[in-house]
Amino acid sequence: MKALSTLGSINQERQQQINRTLILNLLRKKGLCARVDLARLSGLRGATITNIINEFIQADFVIEEGLLTGSKGRRSIGIKINGAKYKVLGIKLARRSYGLSILGMDNQLYKAKQFSFSKMTEAKDMIAEVRENAKKIIAEEEGEVLAIGVAVPGPYKKKNGKLVFMTNSAGFENVDILDEIQKGFDIPVFIENDANAGVVAEQWKYDEQSEYPEENIVYVVAGEGIGCGIISKGELLRGDSDTAGEIGHCSINFEGPVCECGNRGCLEMYCSMGVLNKNIRSRMEKSDDTILEPDFSYGELKAAIAKKDTLAVEEYLKVCEFLGIGIVNIINQINPGSIIIGDLLAELDKEIFINTVQKTVQQRVRKSIWETLRMETSTIGEDAILVGAGLIAVERICEDPFAFVKKNRE
Ligand SMILES: [Zn+2]
Repeated sequence: MKALSTLGSINQERQQQINRTLILNLLRKKGLCARVDLARLSGLRGATITNIINEFIQADFVIEEGLLTGSKGRRSIGIKINGAKYKVLGIKLARRSYGLSILGMDNQLYKAKQFSFSKMTEAKDMIAEVRENAKKIIAEEEGEVLAIGVAVPGPYKKKNGKLVFMTNSAGFENVDILDEIQKGFDIPVFIENDANAGVVAEQWKYDEQSEYPEENIVYVVAGEGIGCGIISKGELLRGDSDTAGEIGHCSINFEGPVCECGNRGCLEMYCSMGVLNKNIRSRMEKSDDTILEPDFSYGELKAAIAKKDTLAVEEYLKVCEFLGIGIVNIINQINPGSIIIGDLLAELDKEIFINTVQKTVQQRVRKSIWETLRMETSTIGEDAILVGAGLIAVERICEDPFAFVKKNRE
């Protein structure tokens, strides 16, 4: 009997945890809410809401603010997450650069900074550079940073803390990234693949603006590599070995050149920032149709495309078309309601980019699918992956908030 009663209290605690997460997520989505609205939206009893909110107020997780007028003209106190007090750090790790962000527990972005690696040396040294700058940003921050979320390029295997593989990298796949980042901090670090972080950010943006949850959404990272994050029925789709969404390694030419992954004619061999740069450089040798110099930077390429530079635009159109062909494969496999595309290739010229990708896709999918598909470039002001990295940590805290702020509890 004793065992049964213990089980009962475990279940009760588990249920309480689920309720806390539900309330925090509602507050993240709605912003300011009255207790009565939280009860209506969550389906929980008023007394349960009161208890949870009291716990949260005691731990400074939420604060009371202003008065809200309800449907019958009754006024009630507003509740909101204390985003200024509890924050997270987001890290976006890319092949040549990295970003750092500070996000409040209320999803608000307080800070976002982009960096280029000072040296492209050993992966361990590059991670050490990220760690040092991350420490500086945390030290400057008012409020308390509770956890760190990291978005890494390429599929990440949670079991051993390593990237499964990563093309054109400085050896990131050989180090335990979790261990290397965790070294400098006494707060928890959570790692997620960059495309997964991006899709989490896009889903939150959509949810904040819409009453209806979107079930299947894909975020495509079109940058130094190509990959996608997939949310299916509201959940991240990871696959058994954490490699779901690796569209960069779907073949678009079965007789094509052999890729590092072992496949032939992978999408990433025809479409990425590196491929675009390489294609432009190789044509430059024989052509005067460009204002670019051989050592052009990303900014110079962007400016040349804006000026309608013939060679740059022609090559850009080609990679956009290849991406469209890759996206058709995602559509036919996943049938998502939304495809959002972000990162360096998409940012070069959003209009040329989306027009070309859309045109390619429209020509190659069934009319009925095309008509119900939302396909656009990311509109998250700052980098979706950088915001998503922070959100990964926020979500983990919401799963068990008091584990992160224990010292504030009675
Ligand atoms: Zn490949």
